[in-house]
Amino acid sequence: MKIQKPKLKQQLKAQRLIVKLFFILKLSLQFLRFKFYLDLMIKQEQFNKLNEKMLLCSQCILRETCRTVVPGEGLIEAEIMFIGEGPGQKEDELGRPFVGTAGKFLDEMLASINLKREDVYIANVVKCRPPGNRDPLPEEIEACWPWLREQIKIINPKLIVLLGKHALEKFLPGQKISQIHGKALRRYIPEIGTYVFYALYHPAAALYNGSMREVLISDFKKIPAVLKAAEKPIKIENVNTNIKLKENKQGILFNFNE
Ligand code: SF4
Repeated sequence: MKIQKPKLKQQLKAQRLIVKLFFILKLSLQFLRFKFYLDLMIKQEQFNKLNEKMLLCSQCILRETCRTVVPGEGLIEAEIMFIGEGPGQKEDELGRPFVGTAGKFLDEMLASINLKREDVYIANVVKCRPPGNRDPLPEEIEACWPWLREQIKIINPKLIVLLGKHALEKFLPGQKISQIHGKALRRYIPEIGTYVFYALYHPAAALYNGSMREVLISDFKKIPAVLKAAEKPIKIENVNTNIKLKENKQGILFNFNE
């Protein structure tokens, strides 16, 4: 059958349009890929500079007794950031966070949710070891805050997991770890923005305490569900405003599917 000329013209026009659209799509994808790598390079550069400065810090008394500053480690593109208390003896020796027995326990719990430490970012509220592993003092946590603040801003995680009472007090002041563990809370903090926080017992505290250990393992297994919930807008029926924070601020507690 002979194709009529106007019809042939129309077909050619449609073909040209498809080729053009395909070309635009290809260019857009290349641009997005280029932008992704460029952003990543900028982020990495910012992070390297931050770590270089952090290693030279002597803003508080902890630097006088520790061997080295332990900035943190992991993926700078991480969706989940873990924040603990401070380096212990092993961490101080190796310059890496969570590498002692508590770190091994953390690795095991990460494996239980199919993650490795390279998939997340791990940091502490103080970057230098308190002498004799004592609790960090509020003024030391405050002195070290600018480093942690910048780490959070660069990584921009979807979920911040608070390990133990010191990390909890920094981000959700006035809360008790025994009451808030295993609960997720979305909160705006002026210096960093809005984040979802999820509180857990510290692995070092739970390591040799049978019941606390069980609770921690169980809470830890909920992390994937919390992450999923953190990505969604909050449904009004899931909002529980009973939770009061110091400074008259209120966080939003939300449920998640277990
Ligand atoms: S604990 Fe933080 S503020 Fe204090 S010296 Fe170490 S890095 Fe600096």
